[in-house]
Amino acid sequence: MLPRDHEGRLLLKGVPRPQLLAWAAEQGLRPGQADALWAALYRKLRSDFAVMPELDRAVRDGLAATARLDALRLESVKQAADGTSKLVFATDDGAAVESVLIPGPERATLCVSSQVGCAMNCQFCLTATMGLARNLGAAEIVDQLVIARRRFPDVWISNVVFMGMGEPLHNLDQVLPAIAVMVDDHGLGLSQRRVTVSTSGLVPQIRRLVAESPAQLAVSINATTDEVRDAIMPVNRKYPLAVLFAALRELPLARRARVTLEYVLLAGVNDSLADAERLAEWVRGLPCKLNLIPWNPHPGSEFRRPEPEQVAAFKAHLQGLRLNTSIRATRGDDTMAACGQLGRAPAESPRRPRRPHGLPVIAS
Ligand code: SAH
Repeated sequence: MLPRDHEGRLLLKGVPRPQLLAWAAEQGLRPGQADALWAALYRKLRSDFAVMPELDRAVRDGLAATARLDALRLESVKQAADGTSKLVFATDDGAAVESVLIPGPERATLCVSSQVGCAMNCQFCLTATMGLARNLGAAEIVDQLVIARRRFPDVWISNVVFMGMGEPLHNLDQVLPAIAVMVDDHGLGLSQRRVTVSTSGLVPQIRRLVAESPAQLAVSINATTDEVRDAIMPVNRKYPLAVLFAALRELPLARRARVTLEYVLLAGVNDSLADAERLAEWVRGLPCKLNLIPWNPHPGSEFRRPEPEQVAAFKAHLQGLRLNTSIRATRGDDTMAACGQLGRAPAESPRRPRRPHGLPVIAS
């Protein structure tokens, strides 16, 4: 059984190949026609049943009458001065879903969303101010990649990171099949080493992700004491640092080798050299790489980005402790496409003010 949209049309996208081929066989498609359908969706990136020369006329007409192709509609593309593009998609129910295409020297990364809004309420993130509207379906997740490839035929999008809007591990039932489609060799063909799922630290779901998917894992750490992490990431009250790191140490990571640990740097909150020391203690013996993200501002927030010298000193300190540490270049911030800048700006959606509530230290 395939999922259906609100008008009862079958959603072909986001269904892993074995299931789609089984469904096609039930519908009476010959195996060659079922393979051709898969190729039409994910290799040819077709947007219209009428233009599928690889399918027999009868099959095409049958699909056109009962199924739909794209689950999302590309509404706008905003290119930032640095070449990053923010893609805004519209869902059937009028929500906006954002992806960010980040070109590199040879290949590009697409940062995809897994939810409309987010329920995690991280205090430094713009998406959090929206609250959670709903989960995206697997079709809507996969379509971000399909439509980006269609729109940018000359860009080789080889990497996908689940670092857009939402907490992907709150939506694993849709994220797992979407990943299966993305890494399928006969279709979108991403290497499983080039699909990364980032989480704020939902411990049971981390275990499920690792058990059920080939994707790489990234975890947003963002603080080195429970006091600070409780204040900026409410998830920490449920899964505190010791619980999170104990779980990470026990993961069967053979194929994935190393976990990426993200660390958003907030001036005066978590960017001291004492934090660097504590971070090194937490990760001791854990195969990981650290990715520092200088905080990206958004209207209404009172956090600050550390000065470049502080970022460099933090990184150098960790490297001195022999930790593999990189700084994530800020990309796309003039179009609000950088990390933590996706979603409606608070001006359009008045909610509580974003103040770093109850934090121990806020330098001004
Ligand atoms: N929910 C997932 C993925 C989405 S956010 C997660 O929490 O990991 C992707 C990364 O951006 C996370 O590491 C998050 O901590 C970081 N982030 C959020 N807001 C940010 C901001 N304003 N500036 C820089 N990084 C931010």
